[in-house]
Amino acid sequence: MIDIEDLFVLYRGPDHDVVALRGLSLSVASGERVVVNGPSGSGKSTLIKAVTAEVMPGAGRVVVLGRNLGQLGPAAARLLRRERIGIITQGSGRDLAPELTCLQNVALQARLSGTRPAIAEAAAAVALEQFHVGHLARRYPSTLSGGEAQRVGVAAALACAPGVIVADEPTGELDRANAEVVYDLLAAHARSSGAGLLIVTHDVAANRIADRVITIRDGRVSNELFEGRSRLIVDRRGWVRLPDGDRDRAGITDRVNAHSEDHAITLVAPADQRSVDSAPPGWHDGWPEITAGQRDASVGDEMIRVREVSVMIGSTVVLSPLSFSVRRGALTVLAGPSGSGKTTMLGILGGLGVPTSGAIEFINGPPMSSIGSSLAGFAEQANSRDNLRLARRVRALEPADVDWALADLGIGHLADRPVSTLSGGERQRLGVARALVTGADLVLLDEPTSQLDESSAAQLAGVLHRLASHGRTIVCTSHDPAIIDLADAVVPLIAAAI
Ligand code: ADP
Ligand code: MG
Repeated sequence: MIDIEDLFVLYRGPDHDVVALRGLSLSVASGERVVVNGPSGSGKSTLIKAVTAEVMPGAGRVVVLGRNLGQLGPAAARLLRRERIGIITQGSGRDLAPELTCLQNVALQARLSGTRPAIAEAAAAVALEQFHVGHLARRYPSTLSGGEAQRVGVAAALACAPGVIVADEPTGELDRANAEVVYDLLAAHARSSGAGLLIVTHDVAANRIADRVITIRDGRVSNELFEGRSRLIVDRRGWVRLPDGDRDRAGITDRVNAHSEDHAITLVAPADQRSVDSAPPGWHDGWPEITAGQRDASVGDEMIRVREVSVMIGSTVVLSPLSFSVRRGALTVLAGPSGSGKTTMLGILGGLGVPTSGAIEFINGPPMSSIGSSLAGFAEQANSRDNLRLARRVRALEPADVDWALADLGIGHLADRPVSTLSGGERQRLGVARALVTGADLVLLDEPTSQLDESSAAQLAGVLHRLASHGRTIVCTSHDPAIIDLADAVVPLIAAAI
């Protein structure tokens, strides 16, 4: 089904090139379900793009459904993508055509490959039922919650009865329960149709449905789970990647002595090459907006009082009545399943929406707020650092060092990279950094870790927590335990009844 051998993918840049995949080999058999885990920037999305012929191999071979993609012209690649490969992304739900109903959206895929309208719509109705969203057939995408839209998007992607299904972070924006539903549906679909399924994700919850779980690091396959244990993969030429934790614990830097015996090789750090214990990168006082004055400021005072706020669109309850307070210098998390109105509530706090009923009171007047979005509004050709500087400049703020923000969020090494070349998780962290460096009194973040692996999410949560304890007021929507565990206040939202 999918056969990848020694694949290299290089992105050419104006100043420097990025090797996103460096000698990756992987295969997925018919009916097999393979989940690829890996931290942000490890090459997961690039792997998917290589399988869908959106990026071409720099070296190596990619064979999908018997076709060697390196030798496929653009037209043939498009056809293969449209008719034989089911492609699901985190944004599948967002990519639905807004002017078509859900049913029409799903039917559209079959119609593109020549099926008659009536037959396509009948098949679409069945597909929607399979994904438990049959009741949404006549609704338009703009009226759906994230979880609903994603399920319709998945149904649309699979409507062409693909031989291979690939998914890039298919559940990034969903809460646990909705994510589980999507995983189960993908697994069931692969099993019943005999399609090969390749999911790349930082979400280890996907592992449950996998026949095989593989981890990639730095563009190569590094290990796989076997009978519940992780074992390292040795490639054909003998390269192995040492796990970070083990390597640090052993004090191994860039040289080791290898002692081999029967069935074992022991790696020992040479005495002159051992690493000195260095403290993990800690908190810097480099954050420009945290002044001593602010630090002493009335931490804990009420800043916003939300009373019985609810939102209806037509007869649909988007947000059930909700009351809570936002305190100064606190990290407040709006938590709840997708569809519970988290993003709607965040927008109201930021002045982007108005409640249908209830009251929202800004105790000392509306604060200057900054809404973090990782999706839009970057100067794509400018580098990460300049984007942060620009964010300050457009708000008429003094120029300030912004590199700490990048470093603390783990993207310091990307300061000079054009934003257009960042991976999803890298972009997301840049979006958070941008919201933080603008010095707003109130920072609003919508699912700031949805595209991050566990350790990057924990790092980001740590930064938010530290900033809050230094006086910044932060409200974010999230269902990520990494953030919820560090929150000063958690506001539970309940799913609106359909
Ligand atoms: P993941 O999906 O695992 O987060 P990606 O495949 O998106 O990783 O990215 C792998 C590496 O390639 C990252 O370092 C990323 O910054 C880089 N990269 C991705 N797309 C481009 C591009 N168009 N130009 C330059 N570099 C890119
Ligand atoms: Mg990605």
